[in-house]
Amino acid sequence: EHIANQIAAGEVVERPSSVVKELVENAVDAGSSRIDIAIEEGGLQLIRVSDNGSGMDADDVEKAFFRHATSKIASTQDLFSIRTLGFRGEALPSIGAVAKVECLTSPDASGLGTKLVIEGGNVKAKLEAASPRGTDLAVRELFYNTPARLKYMKTIQTELGHVTDYIYRLALSHPGIAFTLKHNGQTLIQTLGNGDLLQVVAGIYGTAAAKSMLPIRGETLDYKLEGYIAKPELTRANRNGITTVINGRYVRNFAVVHALLQGFHTLLPINRFPLAALHIQMDPTLIDVNVHPAKLEVRFSKEPELIQFIEHEVRALLGAQRLIPAA
Ligand code: ADP
Ligand code: MG
Repeated sequence: EHIANQIAAGEVVERPSSVVKELVENAVDAGSSRIDIAIEEGGLQLIRVSDNGSGMDADDVEKAFFRHATSKIASTQDLFSIRTLGFRGEALPSIGAVAKVECLTSPDASGLGTKLVIEGGNVKAKLEAASPRGTDLAVRELFYNTPARLKYMKTIQTELGHVTDYIYRLALSHPGIAFTLKHNGQTLIQTLGNGDLLQVVAGIYGTAAAKSMLPIRGETLDYKLEGYIAKPELTRANRNGITTVINGRYVRNFAVVHALLQGFHTLLPINRFPLAALHIQMDPTLIDVNVHPAKLEVRFSKEPELIQFIEHEVRALLGAQRLIPAA
């Protein structure tokens, strides 16, 4: 079991940002309205995620650190209609195998909960402890027992960059959740969680950028599109300013980004890319999220229709703004 978890860890836990991703996704899945992330030394020293979600009782918290203990798939049918972010039950066992983990959690408002301490895959302590409702998970000394993996870590700034980028995407995916990200005690990201996507955009890209964003909204029988795209004058040298969220999950899909760029067509100089935050809703059975364990890549079963829809909506918006001849 230990070896299996360390091998799985290589797949799931590549670097500090992958730990942040898994922990924060669990906090989202737990229905939290507030998620606080604190990291030290780019996450290599400490990654701590506190949420006010459903928490775990004394039995569940220990089970959660064993392989495939996911509470998120009740039947095999569920695999084809995945709505929650995590579903493999691999993250916590993998993280527990390669770090020193302390989990404080409570499923209710009794003021009492469970503290579980795990090091290198072994349970070191399990005790009753004072805890608000929710989960507070601290991961210290990541890869302390896998020096080969530790050697691959880049500078603190590089690791921090991956974490920040991921929290940007998540905050843009969940405008209804209040996020804070602190690095070595300094607040880097803070969103209000009031449900306003434009407020999150302003928090991340600045108020000037937010002012230049155009709201986009469209719907077909299969798809619903909502979000903001920047006027063509606000371009960037890379695609990092494009965030696509499918059914509440930040995903990467080349075709969707391509459709957005096609919508701008002649308006964008070569090698310039727009700022955009797009939320797309569709029936989950139209998505195959099982492409990669990191779950960032997805495929769509009706991809050409989706692409055509996005391109059409972008062109209609730019046309209505008289930025291109009306379609
Ligand atoms: P998965 O998310 O794929 O189910 P994980 O290993 O990430 O697998 O988590 C295992 C289980 O632990 C989850 O299914 C969930 O029941 C529980 N869990 C993990 N994190 C939290 C959290 N922050 N709040 C409540 N439950 C949690
Ligand atoms: Mg998970």
